[in-house]
Formats: sequence, C-alpha cells, structure tokens
Amino acid sequence: MSTIARNIIDIKERILKAANGTDVKLIAVTKTFSADCVKEALSYVTDIAESKIQEALPKFEILSDSLKNINKHFIGHLQSNKAKKAVLNFDLIQSLDSINLAKDINRHAGEAGKIQNCLIELKVSFEESKFGASEEAVLKIYDYCRQNCQNISINGLMTIAPYFEDKQQVRPYFKKAYKIFENMQKIKNDGNFKILSMGMSGDFEVAIQEGANMVRIGTAVFGERNYDK
Ligand SMILES: *Cc1c(COP(=O)(O)O)cnc(C)c1O
Repeated sequence: MSTIARNIIDIKERILKAANGTDVKLIAVTKTFSADCVKEALSYVTDIAESKIQEALPKFEILSDSLKNINKHFIGHLQSNKAKKAVLNFDLIQSLDSINLAKDINRHAGEAGKIQNCLIELKVSFEESKFGASEEAVLKIYDYCRQNCQNISINGLMTIAPYFEDKQQVRPYFKKAYKIFENMQKIKNDGNFKILSMGMSGDFEVAIQEGANMVRIGTAVFGERNYDK
C-alpha cells in the first residue's frame, strides 16, 4: 500500500474517533501535488480540493477519467475573472466572500444551466486571514443570495482558523464559527444550509470536536508542500 493510501486510512480513523458517531466528510487538498500523487488518493476519497484555477484545470484534464465520481471543491480566493471557470469545473465553491462574487457566480451558473453550490467563507480571526467575510457580512451575503441568486445554493460556511503551535489555542475560533453556523441554521430555516467546513492537517480533531462536519486535509495526506516547483 502506498504512503498516501496509508495516510488516508490513518486520518479516517482519527476522524471517526473525534467525530464520535457524527458524519464528517474528508476533503483531500491536492494543491501543489502532481496528478500522479492525486491519482493515488482517488481510490480512498470521494472529494478533492484545489485553491488555484490555473493549477487545477490542467490536473483535472490529465485525471479526467479518474475524476468522474469525485466531487471537486474550490477553496482558494476566487477573483471575479475566474468565476466562470470555477463554476464550470467545481462542484462546491467554498470561498464565496462577497456580494460581487456572488453576482458573478450566479450569472455564470445561469449561463451554464447549473445550480452552483457554495459555502460562504467566514473570517474568524482578523489579524491572520486576508480573505473571508465578517459575521455581519456573511449574513448579508447569505440574504443577498437567497433573494437574488436563483442559480446559487448556499450549503453552509467555511472557515480557516489561525495557526497555533498549541492546537488547543485554536479551539475558541472553531467555537465561534460553530456558534455563527448554528445560529444561521436556526434563524434561516434553510434545509440546504448544513455544511460547516473547518479543520486542516494540524487541527482537524479540535475542529470536529467543535462541530465541523467537513475537514480539508492536504499535508497529512500527501506530505509537505513545495511551492517552488
Ligand atoms: C491548503 C489548504 C488546506 C489544507 O491545509 P493542510 O494544513 O495542508 O492540511 C485547507 N484549507 C485551505 C483553504 C487551504 O488553502
């Protein structure tokens, strides 16, 4: 068995333990890894994520046959001029963070005859993350989409927590995200709003304990990323 396969089996066990009976979806984050590496993971996961359109599309092309039953997630910052390619190539856009981007996604989804599933990216730490929307902005984006974007389905929230050596320090950020998610579930009465995507290689167990039902894991599956290549 390959190292990648072994890593995934190990991570799934750790997810099961942390999840304590609840369902948690594993997304393998494939950014910077070659099509060959990605292929090794595809027998063991149902979902992969990329963060750059220009990197993802050539890989999807190489892997096209193997990706037929795989869900593709976009998790990077999305610029308006790439919205069309994101809509045409990804099942779930996790990084919706402005009304302007929602307008673009909605228009392109309409042209493609598609309902685009999206998560709104919540910013939980103001110092650390460049992208994402405040709680107030998340609510505005949500309401805007409900009222104006018939080609978008908002499936929940995504957040990126700040990095800490000591994993326990990240817990309050996950708690905060869960509170906002739970509150929206309560007040919005929306059956589609059910995904809370948070937790990465270093902190996914804490995220799951705090209510994540989707985790995005790269390094722990594929090894360290090399951005120079
Ligand atoms: C790269 C990335 C991940 C995966 O991070 P790892 O620490 O390698 O698991 C998760 N989410 C987002 C948004 C990312 O950009």
